[in-house]
Amino acid sequence: MGHITKAMDAGGNVRVSFINSRDIVNTAQKIHNTSPVVTAALGRSLTVMALMGALLKEPTDNVTAYIKGDGPLGGMVITADGAGMVKGYAYQPLVDLPLKKGKLDVGGAIGRGSLAISRDLGLKDPYVGKVPLVTGEIGEDFTYYFAMSEQTPTAISLGVLVDTDLSAKQAGGLIVQLMPGADEKTAEILESNLRNMPPITSLLEEGQTPEMIIETALEGFFVKYLDGADYEYRCDCSMEKISRALISLGAEELADMIEKDEGAEITCQFCPKVYRLSTEELKALYESAK
Ligand SMILES: [Zn+2]
Repeated sequence: MGHITKAMDAGGNVRVSFINSRDIVNTAQKIHNTSPVVTAALGRSLTVMALMGALLKEPTDNVTAYIKGDGPLGGMVITADGAGMVKGYAYQPLVDLPLKKGKLDVGGAIGRGSLAISRDLGLKDPYVGKVPLVTGEIGEDFTYYFAMSEQTPTAISLGVLVDTDLSAKQAGGLIVQLMPGADEKTAEILESNLRNMPPITSLLEEGQTPEMIIETALEGFFVKYLDGADYEYRCDCSMEKISRALISLGAEELADMIEKDEGAEITCQFCPKVYRLSTEELKALYESAK
């Protein structure tokens, strides 16, 4: 479980959320058996997506990030809903790269590519915004996405510190957003606060609390705390969703599966659950796909 602490300045010009995401990152690490650089890449992404999930209005809303890159990691898919669920996977969870300047080379693992965010707010079509990756380091890429696609000046700071036993020793994220109507002075103070802030993992290593971290980000402002939210890594997959995904592959693909195999065995990409479908069940799906 990762608790999200939310706050605003008393004037309502700045919105801040912080999450200690260590449990979420560690659950993902165990499910996907990720290498350290992938733990950092996927961990940062799960962290920012939990923060974005907690900003959704309705519990049934959800937001999905599709990161695609030409690096050895290939890409990642991460989903969060408005009710405390976040989950994700990397195309190549075992990628190993040499350290770059003593740090896990997340940017090198992902490479150049794109970040697409799909927001499903219960409307007919999801809203999709897509930007090129800036550095592949995740934090900068999401910051750029907010500036370009949502016109919300946003600063995002993410950190995952991987321990020698491959678990996440520390993980956390901070999102700071300027609300419409905020003046130049507010922006300047915030920018200076954030520029002088040590990395999130250093603050967590020092034992700083979410409140201390938020108050450092909002130094010079009167901080008002809002209701927080709990997020955890979990999966809402079901036979029904798997069946729908199979139908969307099309009749031809299903006919192929029926012909080649004795039923099908499908492992969820987000969790270890395995779904087995008999030839008869596949035939029923084929009928719906025709
Ligand atoms: Zn699942």
